[in-house]
Amino acid sequence: MSSSCLFCRIVRGEIPSKKVYEDDEVLVFHDIDPAAPVHLLMIPKEHVENLLLAESRHQALLGKMLLLAPRLAREQGATDGFRIVINNGPDGGQEVYHLHVHVLGGPRPWKRL
Ligand code: AMP
Ligand code: ZN
Repeated sequence: MSSSCLFCRIVRGEIPSKKVYEDDEVLVFHDIDPAAPVHLLMIPKEHVENLLLAESRHQALLGKMLLLAPRLAREQGATDGFRIVINNGPDGGQEVYHLHVHVLGGPRPWKRL
């Protein structure tokens, strides 16, 4: 855990979030500035900066998140497909340096990519 990391603070409950799923290793909540009718963020509870710093020990966790995405997308109303985005590093457009999977869906048009 990182004391100042925004998403670690959400994991610890220091910053409120609209949670949709939680288990011992994963937290999923609504993006505060949704780019689509459904916009979820899936994060590992462990502080991992991004995929550039993910390790082989995270393999099962990453697989679990990808397999969880379609279920949660559908449950939240994305009934006709969804998109996954993971931004990594400055050129990847990453703003929050705690690995997160964007899950976007719902009827188009969307606000932005
Ligand atoms: P990225 O550019 O991939 O790092 O995306 C960071 C995402 O975090 C953006 O879509 C923000 O809208 C979202 N975000 C920032 N602060 C919060 C927050 N407190 N709760 C939920 N989502 C947030
Ligand atoms: Zn963190």
